[in-house]
Amino acid sequence: MYPFRSDGDDMKYDMIVKRWEAFLREAGVGTYITSTFGTTDKQSVVVSHRDINLHDPELADHLLENPTSVIRGAERAANAFIPPDEIELLKARGLKPELNVRIKEIPMTDRIEVRSIRAAHLNRYIAVKGLIKNTVQVRPRLHIAVYECLKCTEKVRVIQERMVQKEPLQCPGCRKDQSLAFRLLTDESVFIDTQKLEIQESPEGLKGGEQPQRLTAYLEKDLTGQVFPGNKVILNGTVRATPSRASRVQSTTYNIYLDVNSIEIEEHDFEDYELTAEDEEEIILLAKDSNIYDKVASSIAPTIYGMELEKNVLALQLFGGVMKTAPDNTKIRGDIHILLVGDPGTAKSQLLRYISRMAPRGIYASGQAATRAGLTAAAVPDDTGEGRWTLEAGALVLADKGMACIDEIDKMRSEDRSSMHEAMAQQTVSVAKAGITATLQARCSLLAAANPQHGRFDKFKTIIEQINLPPPLITRFDVIFSLMDKPDAEKDGELASHILKTSMVAEQMQHDRAKGSHIEPIADETIVPAIDHELLKKYVSYARRNVFPVLTQSAAERLNEYFVDMRRVYSIEGTVAITARQLEALIRLSEASARLRLSEKIVLDDVERSIHIMENFLHTVALSEDGSYDIDMYATGTGISKTKRDRLTNVLQIIRNAGAEGITRDDLRNETAPLDINEEELEYILNQLREEYSNVYIDQTGRIKSTR
Ligand code: ADP
Ligand code: MG
Repeated sequence: MYPFRSDGDDMKYDMIVKRWEAFLREAGVGTYITSTFGTTDKQSVVVSHRDINLHDPELADHLLENPTSVIRGAERAANAFIPPDEIELLKARGLKPELNVRIKEIPMTDRIEVRSIRAAHLNRYIAVKGLIKNTVQVRPRLHIAVYECLKCTEKVRVIQERMVQKEPLQCPGCRKDQSLAFRLLTDESVFIDTQKLEIQESPEGLKGGEQPQRLTAYLEKDLTGQVFPGNKVILNGTVRATPSRASRVQSTTYNIYLDVNSIEIEEHDFEDYELTAEDEEEIILLAKDSNIYDKVASSIAPTIYGMELEKNVLALQLFGGVMKTAPDNTKIRGDIHILLVGDPGTAKSQLLRYISRMAPRGIYASGQAATRAGLTAAAVPDDTGEGRWTLEAGALVLADKGMACIDEIDKMRSEDRSSMHEAMAQQTVSVAKAGITATLQARCSLLAAANPQHGRFDKFKTIIEQINLPPPLITRFDVIFSLMDKPDAEKDGELASHILKTSMVAEQMQHDRAKGSHIEPIADETIVPAIDHELLKKYVSYARRNVFPVLTQSAAERLNEYFVDMRRVYSIEGTVAITARQLEALIRLSEASARLRLSEKIVLDDVERSIHIMENFLHTVALSEDGSYDIDMYATGTGISKTKRDRLTNVLQIIRNAGAEGITRDDLRNETAPLDINEEELEYILNQLREEYSNVYIDQTGRIKSTR
């Protein structure tokens, strides 16, 4: 072991190199470099900080404090292991060996939250964990500039830093000449790949309601192009500062960025919840509770009154079904998608915000809020104005492997409408714009809320007719709930007292806090969750990580029987009650139901629970005029039953048959009378054809014409 110099804490550079050489040799990295260099196109060797710490704790510490010189030393040492013949080969091509040493797995104590990075961290080696929010296109950056003196044509090499281009201070050829003038020789200069990105704090770490903060980071060389928006990563690197570019005068306030040395891509979803043995014990015990479904459901948004069935389904959504890969390699999603359509003031927004805080990787966004990335992802011009493009993740990509809560989804922008479809169907988002092509993962469950088309529910129309969403999107939801704000004296009284109680408890807590007095635990179970928030999060994460239920024979039989029955009964009438999509939804709900109990087996009870939910759902969206279910109302996404649709098409056909001339109202009435369509109904149908489908219009003379 080479000793430190005892005076001061600065390790001499050649000492650093020697210690690295010793470490690389002992750890076997040296032999690795010697035997593999040139056989792969790898430009880096990766070492774990833990290993360095085992061999040479002083070097390991020194690295965290003085990363710039210590990493440079590491690279010098690593390059020394490259076999001489390989170096000759490089030299012949005018290159020098430049192995990068990438250091990962640094101590947890040096893992810093974005929001906590301060001046004290400047020029230190830290780890930052989070989600990639956006990535800018990879670009070349001038690394070693070769200048030519305009006077004596002497060449000067200048190693460049990241932000500003450095010119030579003196020409070694003409020496003290005052009039320095150089020309950059781009052909002979060396460029390296560089990429800028932003990392955002992951939602798990945030306290309720906090906005995630972001940090700019730069990647270089072989690190570029490796990560994409939505990836969950740990970036290890050096904190550096650059002057704010606010004015022309050199500013004294600096912006901080991370000069990334290595990336660890996180594969696991919920590792943020390090579960202790006691946690696991508590969870397993809780899962055995005979009342567990109600307990979990009632722990969801306890301040929101009622909505028992909704909360039950939301509970299942948290746990989720199991993602499967079919033999032909198509993926069947396990994520459950839920849509809440409701009158204003029915606590939709409140529920979504609540869920986004307790769901794994929960992201809340409003369809209305126009962020650059929209709800899915987008290529947008980089805000530095350098003409580059940034690939930026929206809510659904950031919520990959978690849950996206999208409020007012009916008000989303038109760009989002098309990309939402891909996100819901394939669970990916593709971007192809300005030379950026990427497919990002969006494997999230979606909880969406919408208001009825005209603000309030129209009781003369079906629910689906009043959802202002493209039909293909509507049909991707496993369950749709309608929340109507109907006055009901008894329920209203209970709702009022619930809201009042919540508010009084909150006021009391506020009062106690202000007075600094001891806060009594509140024992009222109607507003205090049966399962503590933190515990529930851990429970969900444990279940999703460890439990993958499969159907038992009896459960499969029951599903099969239900499906066949539903199809048979209604096929007699020429309508279809449920389709394969609903069967998949039933399976997902059953899986979630088993998971909630931490059971590897889906039993009859789980299936009955999901059938109950499905029946309720069909009742909401597919109850046709004659009281039977007609899934066409839902499956076509139009909300129109087959009988009604037949009538619409019949009337439309008559109008179309009339050709360019059109038809008068009277004639149309005469022709539709035999079809058992009365005058009032005809007016209604005409209205629909005109306003909702724009298939027909009435000209100035009152003739009804088809639009094509
Ligand atoms: P929406 O998004 O459906 O229009 P909000 O979530 O904004 O409705 O709710 C409006 C207000 O009414 C919220 O403050 C909410 O707490 C309250 N509220 C509505 N319904 C309930 C309920 N069932 N229980 C408790 N509070 C409710
Ligand atoms: Mg709202």
